[in-house]
Amino acid sequence: MSKLLCDSLWRASAPTAPVLTSLEGRLEVDVVIVGGGFTGLSAALHMAKLGISVAVVEAQEVGFGGSGRNVGLANAGLWLEPDQLDKTIGAEAGKILYDALAVAPDYVYGLIDEYGIECEATRHGTLHAGVGKAGLVQLERRYEQLVRRGAPVQLLNAAEAQSRIGSGKFNSALFDPRAGTIQPLAYARGLADAALKEGAKLFEFSPVNKIEPTPDGWVIHTDGGEVHAEKVILATNAYSEHGVKEQARKFVPIFYSQLASKPLSDAQLASILPNKEGVWDTCTVMSSFRLDKQGRLVFGGMGGEGSVLSNWASQRVKEMYPILNKVEWDYCWTGKIAYSEDHLPHCQQLQNGLFSVAGYSGRGIGPGTVVGAELAQWFAGQRESLSIPTTLLRDIPFRELKRMFYEVGAHTYHLGQQSHALD
Ligand SMILES: Cc1cc2nc3c(=O)[nH]c(=O)nc-3n(C[C@H](O)[C@H](O)[C@H](O)COP(=O)(O)OP(=O)(O)OC[C@H]3O[C@@H](n4cnc5c(N)ncnc54)[C@H](O)[C@@H]3O)c2cc1C
Repeated sequence: MSKLLCDSLWRASAPTAPVLTSLEGRLEVDVVIVGGGFTGLSAALHMAKLGISVAVVEAQEVGFGGSGRNVGLANAGLWLEPDQLDKTIGAEAGKILYDALAVAPDYVYGLIDEYGIECEATRHGTLHAGVGKAGLVQLERRYEQLVRRGAPVQLLNAAEAQSRIGSGKFNSALFDPRAGTIQPLAYARGLADAALKEGAKLFEFSPVNKIEPTPDGWVIHTDGGEVHAEKVILATNAYSEHGVKEQARKFVPIFYSQLASKPLSDAQLASILPNKEGVWDTCTVMSSFRLDKQGRLVFGGMGGEGSVLSNWASQRVKEMYPILNKVEWDYCWTGKIAYSEDHLPHCQQLQNGLFSVAGYSGRGIGPGTVVGAELAQWFAGQRESLSIPTTLLRDIPFRELKRMFYEVGAHTYHLGQQSHALD
């Protein structure tokens, strides 16, 4: 293996970020958003467009959290199967949320077009690849539920999956033509640019360390300044730190790491994902893979980065794609996913005018963008509620134990898989 750069491919290949300063002094706006990821940036962009004065205050850089580290699969819908969604929040609310997120990729690609965001956007669909009998059953169930709701998905058999993925290791695949892939950090930076153009104020390197009520609303404090606003949105998801750490208790943070290979040769690219779909599989300890613009294979799996994960990834890729023989990785990086107990994102009104949006459970590109736009419409009086649940969540019992269970489970699985070929 080549010497791994423990840095993200997305950071290395994203266009330059807009130049932003840290928050200094006192500012007054209608809405202040804590966190500069897809949720916060989309909310700011849409609020500014609707004439709401808005500021985003980010602890690090725009896209520092999950938004700049993810796989880049811009999918429709949620992780939860649609029937399960109806069971969890009721058929009426389930339909509203399903319908809103079925068009989430249209929203994402619409913004990319409207603001000319350079983020390696391709819209060739995604493939959910079936592994084993359980995987096939899962895909058949999802297919039936999606078709019943009018989604234009196709269930591919083993031969069709093989020709699309370029590997004979999958017995089926669910193809969703509504979806596509993006360079996620470039998309986050593009949203920041668009929000600035619409008049939003953005600050970086300004961790919010205190939030207090005032007679007219709220004030958020950083080391250098403060923002007074009628409303505050905590859009910090799995990365809730400093003065908003409390929010993190409602979610289990799960690590997911990715490796990016050297650019593949033209001969390799002719058979590996020739149509450039993004892929994830049906295994309980899931993995994902896709190509970037330079023809690198980006492969990811649950768990923190380290030699176990990279050894497992090398072996798994070799099994899937013998043509690669010995894959050489150039980059590796890790992100934190916020799993909510019901696998749904929630907007909690913590107190009057203080909101928190989190719990995307690994599906936040489309949902984060849509929820941001809906928050703007809600605050502007253009809609009565959001399509995601607006409920107060209870603390997750045994949160730390659950986090360790996932982490140790993924580690053990990867260790075990190093000596057992996939079936
Ligand atoms: C490895 C990985 C792979 C994923 N793959 C996909 C995928 O392929 N498709 C998909 O749809 N979704 C995917 N997701 C999920 C998606 O990335 C997230 O749901 C989404 O990015 C959440 O966006 P956000 O804006 O809510 O939060 P984030 O992007 O996490 O942003 C939160 C921000 O809040 C800031 N912050 C925290 N505390 C403070 C504070 N006190 N003051 C100021 N700022 C603060 C953080 O620095 C951070 O930048 C993946 C996630 C991960 C981690």
